[in-house]
Amino acid sequence: MTFDHDIKATVRTIPDYPKKGILFRDITTLLADARAFRRAVDELVQPWAGLKIDKVAGIEARGFILGGAVAHQVSAGFVPIRKKGKLPHTTVRIAYSLEYGIDEMEMHVDAIQPGERVILVDDLIATGGTAEGAVKLLRKIGANVVAACFIIDLPDLGGAAKLRAMEVPVRTLMAFE
Ligand code: AMP
Repeated sequence: MTFDHDIKATVRTIPDYPKKGILFRDITTLLADARAFRRAVDELVQPWAGLKIDKVAGIEARGFILGGAVAHQVSAGFVPIRKKGKLPHTTVRIAYSLEYGIDEMEMHVDAIQPGERVILVDDLIATGGTAEGAVKLLRKIGANVVAACFIIDLPDLGGAAKLRAMEVPVRTLMAFE
């Protein structure tokens, strides 16, 4: 895939961040590159071009940046999924697993109506714990999760496979070992 090669080079890798042994895939350099940013958004939504999408749900925080652009592209509304305690109105909440321990994420209870067609967006999928939690949260309020999109897949960690096992079609643009 040509776009993989083009935009992959704009992702910066920071070794040992936020802790030793982690290769942090930094998309701020992709976002700062006008062509790469446009291309990434275009390619992420390409399979759903022309289909009816009601909402795009973005996971805090990098999923907000991409999700906003994706929502504009598919003429959908945008819904933030946030860490607990950040949203002002009544929320639905779910616990999800992190590498060490668990955390909770939430969204406004009235952000999505039952049956609405939703695309979930984040920058990267690793173990899939975060995205799995987001899918469960969306389903809890009756959303129809039609796809989950990520710029980067770390396939060795199995997250994309985990989502596909939940019958969520997954779109990623590049993979790192
Ligand atoms: P996971 O729940 O394991 O799939 O982790 C996904 C979340 O953690 C995403 O919101 C990513 O932004 C972040 N993340 C996990 N691993 C990395 C990494 N190697 N580089 C950058 N972000 C990461």
